[in-house]
Amino acid sequence: MNRIHLLPDHVANQIAAGEVVERPASVVKELVENSLDAGASRVSVEIQAGGRSLVRVTDDGSGMSRDDALLCLERHATSKIVRAEDLSAIATMGFRGEALPSIASVSRFTLTTRERDSDTSEATQVIIQGGKIAEVKAAGSAPGTSVEVRQIFFNLPARRKFLRTGETEAAHIQHYLTLAALAHPQVAFTFSKDGRTVWQLPPVSSASTPEGRLAALRERMRTIAGDEQKLLAVDYSALLDTPAEGEPDETWESATPERPQTLPRFRIWGLIGPPGVSRSTREDQHLFVNRRPVENRGLNFALMEGYHTALMKGRFPVCCLFLEIDPSAVDVNIHPAKREVKFHQESQVRRLVAQAVRQTLLAFHGEPNAASSPTKSDPRAVKVHAQETPKANALSPRSSLPASPIPQTEDLPQLAPSVLTARPTAPKDKIPWPVRPPMTPARPVVTAPPPPAIPEERDSTPVPAASGNEHGDTSRSASVSGPVPLLHVPLRMVGVIGRLYVVLESDRGLVLLDQHAAHERILFEQMLNRLEQQGNASSQKLLLPETVELSIRDSQFLREQLPTLTRMGVGLSEFGDRTFLLDALPPFVKVSDSRRFVLELVDELKAAGQQVNSLRLGEHTIAKTVCRHAVKANDPLAGKELENLVDDLRRCAMPYTCPHGRPTLIEMNYRELEKKFGRTQ
Ligand code: ADP
Ligand code: MG
Repeated sequence: MNRIHLLPDHVANQIAAGEVVERPASVVKELVENSLDAGASRVSVEIQAGGRSLVRVTDDGSGMSRDDALLCLERHATSKIVRAEDLSAIATMGFRGEALPSIASVSRFTLTTRERDSDTSEATQVIIQGGKIAEVKAAGSAPGTSVEVRQIFFNLPARRKFLRTGETEAAHIQHYLTLAALAHPQVAFTFSKDGRTVWQLPPVSSASTPEGRLAALRERMRTIAGDEQKLLAVDYSALLDTPAEGEPDETWESATPERPQTLPRFRIWGLIGPPGVSRSTREDQHLFVNRRPVENRGLNFALMEGYHTALMKGRFPVCCLFLEIDPSAVDVNIHPAKREVKFHQESQVRRLVAQAVRQTLLAFHGEPNAASSPTKSDPRAVKVHAQETPKANALSPRSSLPASPIPQTEDLPQLAPSVLTARPTAPKDKIPWPVRPPMTPARPVVTAPPPPAIPEERDSTPVPAASGNEHGDTSRSASVSGPVPLLHVPLRMVGVIGRLYVVLESDRGLVLLDQHAAHERILFEQMLNRLEQQGNASSQKLLLPETVELSIRDSQFLREQLPTLTRMGVGLSEFGDRTFLLDALPPFVKVSDSRRFVLELVDELKAAGQQVNSLRLGEHTIAKTVCRHAVKANDPLAGKELENLVDDLRRCAMPYTCPHGRPTLIEMNYRELEKKFGRTQ
């Protein structure tokens, strides 16, 4: 007896709906993607009860003929691909031909559509109930398409039960719409919830230049957030090498005669939070691949990697980054809802992303053009800002920088070993920082263009150079401080409080500096700099070497780290099976209990090894762990020492956070002070 039979279409559609239609937000996503694919310049989304009673998406796109309107509701009916080969280079949002029939199979569905470029003035309306066509008729409507989805899952009570409250579902919808609106500033979006308009985003015309696109993105962000976001601009492009994964010869070079443009093109552009700006979730981390919002673990890692010491453990970057990559170099057909993508040159892409982020962060502080001229001269001014030179903007805060820049060592030294040894020593004052990017650079099209934006409070993290405050007040004060990084403006010493916080004053307002965090950052960079120049960090022999005994596993782990530790100035050597001899330490580390120091070091290194991706238990991880043990200055620093501290900090490559990502400085500008004192609203 034959027991196998083909499932009827409506059952197959419901099965597909299981994957594609998870919740009302998935319906919104599919419908809006269709509108965008149809070339709409206006998309309007209305929902009721979080989309559970109604989702209606209306566009002014190409529309459909009557035949197409019927056909588009069939499974695997699509206008976007024809052949299997087309799958390897998808340039549209959709291509699976599944969304409409799936959605129609689990809702009361009405499609009204009128072809834009046709003579007919009539629209077609198709009404479907739970996957069965109930009615097809002519209707009056403007060109474009409107899809109405009522009572989602009305015929699948088990799934309807799992829908969350209207508020939660609406939040998911709004999140998706935010992404779509960010990716398509040229499209006007309206969003209304239970009859109330939430958004009305006008189209932003954008020049196709990099600056134009960034400006459009900023403008769109401003309208969505109701305010300006002070983020740094990123724009890098490169060619991906075609060789398979794992090829060591990966370069960033642009096209040259020997290297024609046939290699897959890669570009990353958008906006990222400055050092110290972070969130406790990934909620403000928006990543797009060819304008498609994506989730990709590799990219998440790359971002963290790019921020490295500018991000606290457990915090996440704020960003809106667009990767543009040859459609043939990325597979979008790996997830039914197309949320995930796979890059053919995954590791190169990751490296490029990390690189672009890191260089942007470094340029934020290092870009000499971004320096402002000191507006007043004040005899009390901490001299750090004023390595006076005739040209105002030659007051590079790095005029006496440690001879070698940090970024190289910070940047995956194991991947670009040649860089570590072969760095040109550049004339310090002339060459913009970083002197040379770690890998052969992606051609920076716009590198944190001057003036770079001022970082801004996005969360309750104190933010360097920020115009926000530490109380999560998100109101912005764009005009007050001007787009100049905090360490580029003159700072005057006021005093020290709590033996820890240095109170400073700038023309913009109040600045607080955490002595320990600043000290740690300075030691960290000095250590790596010295390491790079001399091959080992400074170290001081202990008068009384001590032995430390560890567990078998810990000693195994420590043994592997010994060569690096020794180079970092921590003199540890094997002294028996599980015993180690500690006979030297970096001069700034004073330990009273060497066993505890070694144990803590092992624990911290192990933890760091798990947290960062496993490639990188390199020098800087060890350096930042060692720096944590720097002597905490018990005596409050005074006068000259404080000046030196700010001076040294200013010469760091990444001065706004300690090596663990905590802020070194926070700023409260006059506008915020005025608000707190009730002088303004
Ligand atoms: P896919 O988007 O994967 O092709 P869908 O089921 O989402 O599959 O849509 C099927 C087809 O219906 C699309 O390929 C497109 O031709 C047409 N279509 C859907 N929505 C619209 C719309 N808003 N405007 C014009 N055509 C549309
Ligand atoms: Mg679609």
